[in-house]
Amino acid sequence: MPIRKKTQAEKAISFWFFAARLMRPISPPQTRFMDRLTHDILIVGGGAAGLRAAIAAAEVSNKLNIAVISKVYPMRSHTVSAEGGLAAVLATMRSIDYDSFDLHAFDTIKGSDFLADQDAVEFFVQAAPDEIIRLEHWGCPFSRDPDGRIAVRAFGGMSVKRTIFAADKIGFHLLHTLFQRTLMYENISRYDEWFVTSLLIENGRVHGVTAIDIKNGELSLIRSKSVIIATGGAGRVYEFTTNGFIKTGDGMAMAYRAGVPLKDMEFVQYHPTALPGTGILMTEASRGEGGYLINKDGERFLKRYVPKKMELGPRDILSRAIITEISQGRGIEGPHGSYVLLDLRHLGREVVEKKLPFVKELTENYAGIDPVNEPIPVRPAMHYFMGGISTDMIGRTEIVGLYASGEVACVSINGGNRLGSNSLTECLVFGATSGADAAKFALENQMTAGENPNSTLVIQEEKRVFDEILGNEAGEERVSTITSELRALMERNVGIFRSETGLTEAARVIRTLKERFRLITVEDKGSVFNLELMEALELDFMLDVAEAITHSAVARRESRGAHYRIDYPKRNDEQYLSHSLARYAREAPRIDYLPVKLTKWKPMERVY
Ligand SMILES: Cc1cc2nc3c(=O)[nH]c(=O)nc-3n(C[C@H](O)[C@H](O)[C@H](O)COP(=O)(O)OP(=O)(O)OC[C@H]3O[C@@H](n4cnc5c(N)ncnc54)[C@H](O)[C@@H]3O)c2cc1C
Repeated sequence: MPIRKKTQAEKAISFWFFAARLMRPISPPQTRFMDRLTHDILIVGGGAAGLRAAIAAAEVSNKLNIAVISKVYPMRSHTVSAEGGLAAVLATMRSIDYDSFDLHAFDTIKGSDFLADQDAVEFFVQAAPDEIIRLEHWGCPFSRDPDGRIAVRAFGGMSVKRTIFAADKIGFHLLHTLFQRTLMYENISRYDEWFVTSLLIENGRVHGVTAIDIKNGELSLIRSKSVIIATGGAGRVYEFTTNGFIKTGDGMAMAYRAGVPLKDMEFVQYHPTALPGTGILMTEASRGEGGYLINKDGERFLKRYVPKKMELGPRDILSRAIITEISQGRGIEGPHGSYVLLDLRHLGREVVEKKLPFVKELTENYAGIDPVNEPIPVRPAMHYFMGGISTDMIGRTEIVGLYASGEVACVSINGGNRLGSNSLTECLVFGATSGADAAKFALENQMTAGENPNSTLVIQEEKRVFDEILGNEAGEERVSTITSELRALMERNVGIFRSETGLTEAARVIRTLKERFRLITVEDKGSVFNLELMEALELDFMLDVAEAITHSAVARRESRGAHYRIDYPKRNDEQYLSHSLARYAREAPRIDYLPVKLTKWKPMERVY
């Protein structure tokens, strides 16, 4: 049962049940216990998007039975690690012509290299300020100006300061605020540390999910009228990333397998500044507060690439600039490869300690340097997925009752390149629209498919998890080996600079990795916290996501935003002013295109 719904009596029963289980020897699940749990709305993911969706649904009606399911405790979702801030036009309050919705929209669209849907961007920028004010009322401790107003800072690709922040720990404060708010609603319950393995979709309608309770290894069917996928990105498909270990693209792969197209998957964002070795992010706020990027000669090299914006240029261009500097011999060699320097020394101790305390903490602990006195070694690391499950402006997918929001979704407001600090706002804006619409859907529709829905799908899933993966004794392949090979391949061939040869080779190798996956052995056959089994399931998801990225990248023979083809270095609006849609097919993904929606901004050359 979901954890917040238990009565005292149920708690007592659970305790004895759990105690009895602990005394049992660890062994493969003897009985494939198939529980039946039912909700009106099931939200997969407890990050910013999932929690915001839950609140929005609960606000529609206190009669709705809403559940949030997450493979980690919600506060451990990747959202918690966000540092720099979230964007919205609040500063109009300062002076009438300081900022405008049109300016935020234009910055976002130009940042996207004109691939964002302009109607969605207009909706997004207009909904953003209310989300900030709501968070403020719910208690989010935003940083303030001396006169008490919410402070704003500069961020890459934004024309004015419009990034709202809480020192450099916005994710921590934002996620706590949302989480505490969900506790107010009696009708929101949670499944913490449950791993969703598949979506149950039949006849174009979602009926629920299958999920493993990680603490006892049992697979359950959870039925619901509507399902919102808010499982975040897939950064761990790459070797060098700022993303947490749990970001393995589960939701993208589950939707894709069930027939929902993945949109714009070739657009993978590298963040210019991460610590070599660990990939720990040095937030863009450090450049927003005035930090410099310098090469081995102490030169601010960005004057050659983005002369007007310098350190506040967009992430795709800055990442390419750093790699170019390194390849032309102006980087610095270190034990974890070449790097350039992020210099904060001129900002002084007070600015660093007050506005960038987390950067100081991280560099001291993980690089052994004090950024007040020494420049920080940095290099680009994979950071964010512009692409994801294709949705409309509400968050609806092609499947009736199925929604997606947050990083897992592609609405699209980010197009070819996301501007820093738009993502958290996106989680709030589209988390809210998905939650409210899923609630409306659940009020207007009945639970479908009778007592034992989709039994074939559930039996198939049980067979996949327990026989084909956990029970497989077929071969000598290891999950960790295939995972490392996949990540290195994606980094090498599907990273910042791409070519037809490299991409085609990657597509071929991913196929062989998929073949080898069938020969894996999961050595831990236990049922309690079997993390090896979870890693195997995650690898299976990552292989599908990697294939969708690679095939979408082969098919786009132009350079746009974060997708840079050395063999096609120019943007080609005539042929490619469209979103790619990757659809699952047995042999290889099928790639179609969908035209970009333009409203008032004509595509122009993107110079900064
Ligand atoms: C280091 C870092 C710093 C960042 N800083 C900023 C910033 O300053 N500003 C900004 O706008 N953006 C920032 N971003 C990006 C932004 O934080 C993310 O895009 C956003 O938080 C994603 O939120 P989400 O709710 O979509 O997903 P997440 O927060 O990733 O949550 C995903 C949820 O899905 C659950 N889940 C996944 N798979 C399963 C499964 N199989 N079964 C059950 N549950 C599952 C997870 O348990 C988790 O609860 C940053 C990202 C990183 C990595």
